[in-house]
Amino acid sequence: MFDYASALGLNGKTALVTGAGQGIGAACAEALAATGASVICTDLDIDRAQATADRIRAAGLSAQAEALNVTDTAMLEAMAHALPALDILVCNAGIVSSHKASEMSDAAWQAVIDVNLTGVFRCCRAFGSKMVTAGKGAIINIGSMSGQIVNTPQPQCHYNASKAAVHQLTRSLAVEWAPHGVRVNAVAPTYIATPLLDGVENSEELVARWTDLTPMARLGQPHEVASVVQFLASDAASLITGGIIAVDGGYTCL
Ligand code: NAD
Repeated sequence: MFDYASALGLNGKTALVTGAGQGIGAACAEALAATGASVICTDLDIDRAQATADRIRAAGLSAQAEALNVTDTAMLEAMAHALPALDILVCNAGIVSSHKASEMSDAAWQAVIDVNLTGVFRCCRAFGSKMVTAGKGAIINIGSMSGQIVNTPQPQCHYNASKAAVHQLTRSLAVEWAPHGVRVNAVAPTYIATPLLDGVENSEELVARWTDLTPMARLGQPHEVASVVQFLASDAASLITGGIIAVDGGYTCL
């Protein structure tokens, strides 16, 4: 019989997670470490990355912390150069803001595109190229249901466009790198209870509206995204590439 349990394990694998200091990224780092990977927790905020790595190590698992800004090409290239090829890359770092399109400045547009889209591209280019040379690897990009639906009532066309582009970047890299043994997938979560939502104005009212729009009638939790990322990172997902996996309580069915 095929060894299903072993295929889900990540023993001996090295993973790097961006934006691992809190929220979904921290949960991904924990999920990968809990199933055997040695995890490099990176974040713009090194103290947050360190806190995640400390929590993982306190559980007897393997992690280290590094500062990494996904908008800094030189920093990314230097880190990729210094490390052996990764087995797993999770491109998670992302930001959001809310502006009406008619009132959005170039700076507000550019900031979201630079982190959410170009940041994912920069990470895939730096770390994915080494996977291609090594002939193996799994990349998981954190997209969003916002790449498919338009969130309401908050206006955020820059965010929605960035996530739609992340999905198509994922599919493009999946095709380009499939012959080299590198799988590239994305997850597309619904609203997840993370600090990202804490900064949202009128959040109680909005959460009520969002849960009304969701068949499962609740927000998601970070671990519910991380467990899908863990599966996609594992050999249990060996035939999946170019997938955009909805993790959304049925939101996009309606
Ligand atoms: P969060 O704000 O809780 O955490 C994001 C982390 O990314 C922070 O630790 C932050 O320091 C880090 N970060 C920000 N800019 C960075 C940069 N330039 N370089 C490196 N790190 C940087 O966010 P979250 O809710 O955990 O979201 C994580 C990802 O999931 C994002 O890509 C987001 O768009 C996506 N997502 C979130 C939700 C949600 O409802 N929370 C839903 C769908 C998709």
